Amino acid sequence: MSAGKVYFVGAGPGAPDLLTIRAAEVLKRADVVFHDALVHPDTIALASKAECIAVGKRCGRHSTAQRFINKRLVDAARKARVIVRLKGGDPMLFGRAQEEIAALDAAAIAYEVVPGVTAALAASAEIGVSLTQRGRARSVLFLTPRVGEGEKPNDWARTAASADTVVIYMGAGQAEMITQALLAQGMRPDTPVVVLENATLPDRRCLRLALLDLPAVAALGLMGPALIMMGEVYREGVIEHANVVPAARRA
Ligand code: SAH
Repeated sequence: MSAGKVYFVGAGPGAPDLLTIRAAEVLKRADVVFHDALVHPDTIALASKAECIAVGKRCGRHSTAQRFINKRLVDAARKARVIVRLKGGDPMLFGRAQEEIAALDAAAIAYEVVPGVTAALAASAEIGVSLTQRGRARSVLFLTPRVGEGEKPNDWARTAASADTVVIYMGAGQAEMITQALLAQGMRPDTPVVVLENATLPDRRCLRLALLDLPAVAALGLMGPALIMMGEVYREGVIEHANVVPAARRA
């Protein structure tokens, strides 16, 4: 049995002050931090006595990279006491934490998860629109159309068509495909959509459009992480009080 413990820590959606006190405390004690590419430098800086190692992978060749990360976590826990795996948003949502937990379990290494603010919740706060507006939505679906290596594409579009509010992670690069799949499932072409890039960061961009026009986001040249949110809660008139000016109106 090793002496080290691995903490899966949610870094929040971007802005470094959207971190829990528990996360900050664990970072302060950390000996080694393995962090994702998108974690804010100020958050990483909280780990003042740690060796900080970027293990970010944004796209492609996931499984090799993942196996390598699993191994590095296990190796680190055999040498150091407090190891932090710092992940964007919440570690348990589209964060591949389970694979890393399984690797630790197999090596009999202790772990703990410190939750974080997931992008969907930060984005909702930023645009001032509730995910579960009374009378308009009583269900929310957090979804990604992305399938991992060796996984079968599932019928995510059918699930999406039956939810009230849908928040799509890791989908902005596949807007055309998403639109076609949802329309084919009978989702209305005028379903209101909000695309929010870099939520909580100074260079955030927000766009509101109808589902039919969603493929137009390709022309925005999104560089940062972006969410696609859709449903009746985003219909005209409702989002008028949003804190974020839609990109289309800002010009
Ligand atoms: N565990 C993370 C999600 C990781 S998947 C969480 O809980 O938020 C990465 C996806 O999250 C991105 O492709 C994007 O869809 C979304 N995302 C993360 N940070 C974001 C941000 N600041 N603004 C908009 N979307 C974000």
